[in-house]
Amino acid sequence: MSAAAMTPDQARAAAERVMARCDELAALSETPDALTRVYLSPEHQRANALTGDWMREAGMTVWQDSVGNICGRYEGATPDASALLLGSHLDTVRDAGRYDGMLGVLTAIETVRHLHQQNRRLPLAVEVVGFGDEEGTRFGITLLGSRGLAGTWPGEWLEKEDEQGTRVVDALRDFGLDPHRLSDAARPLGEIAAYLELHIEQGPCLEQADLALGVVTAINGARRLNCTFTGQAGHAGTVPMGQRRDALAGAAEWMTEIERTTRAAGQDRVATVGALQCKPGAVNVIPGQARLSLDIRGPEEEPLEALLEDLLARAHAIAERRGLTFEADEFYRIAATACDTSLQQHLANAVTDVQGSAPHLPSGAGHDAIAMADHWPVAMLFVRCKGGISHHPAESVTTADVAQAIQAYTQAATDVATHSPRNP
Ligand SMILES: [Zn+2]
Repeated sequence: MSAAAMTPDQARAAAERVMARCDELAALSETPDALTRVYLSPEHQRANALTGDWMREAGMTVWQDSVGNICGRYEGATPDASALLLGSHLDTVRDAGRYDGMLGVLTAIETVRHLHQQNRRLPLAVEVVGFGDEEGTRFGITLLGSRGLAGTWPGEWLEKEDEQGTRVVDALRDFGLDPHRLSDAARPLGEIAAYLELHIEQGPCLEQADLALGVVTAINGARRLNCTFTGQAGHAGTVPMGQRRDALAGAAEWMTEIERTTRAAGQDRVATVGALQCKPGAVNVIPGQARLSLDIRGPEEEPLEALLEDLLARAHAIAERRGLTFEADEFYRIAATACDTSLQQHLANAVTDVQGSAPHLPSGAGHDAIAMADHWPVAMLFVRCKGGISHHPAESVTTADVAQAIQAYTQAATDVATHSPRNP
């Protein structure tokens, strides 16, 4: 452990503060009976102000950047040192839980608070960011906060509209920001050494392993496709079984193949058919067309691509045998984001110190770390959440788990900011 590691008692007190602050932030909502806090809303403004106060109290200098992220900096041993950046997001989905995102921002503040109380300066500065948008709830585009900080906002984003027809550019002005100065939020590469994010798992793996903490190996890449089997509609009573070209039966056969093949393929890959329509869709007509969606995800690009090719080849084979045609149209693709191995090792050491072992797991959900990974090494620490439930008011973590998380996260952050090979 580092010389001035956090004690379990200190971690417990920090966790109680974090839990209370999650409740305080949960009260900043556009509706009183459900937590909804979207990008560039009055609630976002209030969440930034409150979080900024907590950052200041923890020893940081605080500013709001030009895309609406709230940022704090705790100087390193030398002025202008590169920073280890810690953080997550402060926006939510509609009718959200109170830990997704916020937990990562508030635990990061505790890490700095701990360093500040010991008057300890590290070779790297430590910065904390509360990103203004990760979920994409308001404008349907995600990672606006982290992509602003990474300087990767596409210009056309300014014209995107919310459901009321308010454009991003106008929402920025209403929030008090200058849309012409967006690029000011982009951080020069040398100012940041690495990004560490703590987040709830949003899945059931840690709970099943009976462990509070896990180290993320990668954020899953994904492919989404619209697929169509086309056959021949016909009379359900008159066309003999041997002469049918039933599109839905072909789709059904493929669906069971998808499940069986993906399960056997392993390597944390998952595949889902989430939507299915058939035409004409009548009880007495053989389906002439079946349209279905395919969503596949995995932590590594090559195995993911190999699985996709395998599944599509199986679809074509099924179609050929059944006298159908098959078409697939990919409409969404995001590459897998690998977590930095050295940062993972720092996290694994700290997690092992705190809970005895360090399971590694991929992230099935997207995170701000995806945008940060365009420029900087990233890693993530996952905290068990009850039933794996997230994006729902039943989202739940325990104070004991949060205490372990703060202890491990603070130790890992301190180690990285002390020993990072990128130190100036
Ligand atoms: Zn999140």
